[in-house]
Amino acid sequence: MPTDCLFCKISQGDIPAKILYEDELVVAFHDIAPQAPQHVLIIPRKHIATTLDLKVEDESLVGHIYLVAARLAGELGISEEGFRLVNNCGLAGGQVVWHLHFHLLGGRQMGWPPG
Ligand code: AMP
Ligand code: ZN
Repeated sequence: MPTDCLFCKISQGDIPAKILYEDELVVAFHDIAPQAPQHVLIIPRKHIATTLDLKVEDESLVGHIYLVAARLAGELGISEEGFRLVNNCGLAGGQVVWHLHFHLLGGRQMGWPPG
């Protein structure tokens, strides 16, 4: 684990976050700069820098993140109207934190294509 990774520090409780859900594999917390009425980040506890760094053994971890996202969407009241689950990968993808994360966004109409 890189000692300077922000999301590893949140996962370990070294930096505070508004945590919605956590288990042995993942942590979900409110984004500090929300881009929608509901904006939650879901991260694996394991440090994985980007989607490109996923290994075969991480397959079920990513599946778990999707199931957690679906459950949280229900709890946040955005599952019926719809929501977006986004992973930004690399510089052109808009990634700024180099620890894999998925944005769960909802509570407003999303545009397409994204900017
Ligand atoms: P990305 O551009 O996909 O790398 O997204 C990184 C996200 O992390 C952005 O939406 C930031 O607002 C969010 N973020 C950065 N620092 C924190 C923090 N300390 N707590 C919660 N969210 C954060
Ligand atoms: Zn990390």
